Amino acid sequence: MKSIVEQMKAGVVVGDGGYLIELERRGYVDSGSRREKVGTGRGSGQFTPEVAIEHPDALRELHREFLNAGANVLQALTFFGTREKLNRAGYGAQTETINAAAVKLAREVANGKALVAGSVSRTQLTEREGMESLGKSRDHIAEQIRLLKDAGVDFLILETFFHLAEMKIALECAAASGLPAVATMSFRPLITQCTDGHSPAECARAMADAGAVAVGANCEQEPQRMLPLLREMAGAVKIPIAAQPAAFRTSDQCHSFTRRPAFPDNLETIQVSRQEFLDFGKLARNEGIAYAGGCCGCNAAYIRSLADGVSEVRS
Ligand SMILES: [Zn+2]
Repeated sequence: MKSIVEQMKAGVVVGDGGYLIELERRGYVDSGSRREKVGTGRGSGQFTPEVAIEHPDALRELHREFLNAGANVLQALTFFGTREKLNRAGYGAQTETINAAAVKLAREVANGKALVAGSVSRTQLTEREGMESLGKSRDHIAEQIRLLKDAGVDFLILETFFHLAEMKIALECAAASGLPAVATMSFRPLITQCTDGHSPAECARAMADAGAVAVGANCEQEPQRMLPLLREMAGAVKIPIAAQPAAFRTSDQCHSFTRRPAFPDNLETIQVSRQEFLDFGKLARNEGIAYAGGCCGCNAAYIRSLADGVSEVRS
């Protein structure tokens, strides 16, 4: 099977959708909202991936749906799978088991028909303890990347980082592992700068300089809202752009769905239609987007529409 870098050169790679929100809707993932106010920006406690060991059939089924919908890549559900985040959810001792099980499940379903990516996200330490905790973040991210490499992922997707400083650390850990890394920041509450104050163009350049094979954005915005920020990134670098938008409507005042009152328990009220992902798929190639997938709110119907949009242009 061709590597992620070769596939992005050949055309638009179709990614998969969002796992945690979809599995929360199906009753297998805990949003944490019954115990604490989620979405405060202070590093909430839940949306962790223990479903990989507690309800493997549910995760296997969602992987199957994304593959069947046309995804060229399956992301192992290792999002929020650092020991730091799992510790707070009560699963720290199972960090190795959860990461290994998630990769094994994705690999089984992919079965040579899709690449398997390890998902690595922020630790939430910077939100909780400030920038002086970056040394601890490095240890946790390096540990998770080692586990993903041992489990045999094809490449890494570093995603949903709010601070460029933490993303740069993750890219250093990825480089040390030798695995190719797609790097996407998440911008909130506005798309004009990340949490530690860098513009999308600055983020794109810094991530490219740190060795990412593609740079871009994921989560927080619907495709239409995310597009200007992706264009700014595309204008700043020569490497492929990756985009995995959310399927939730944002507003002119607040560009991130996790800061809207509907998060996390009333997201159905701000759901965008799959048509927006069909349109997004159609324009991906012209916008220089070589990796197009979905994030929170995207189930298989959205990925099917996205894949249809990509192939409409291709044919
Ligand atoms: Zn998301």
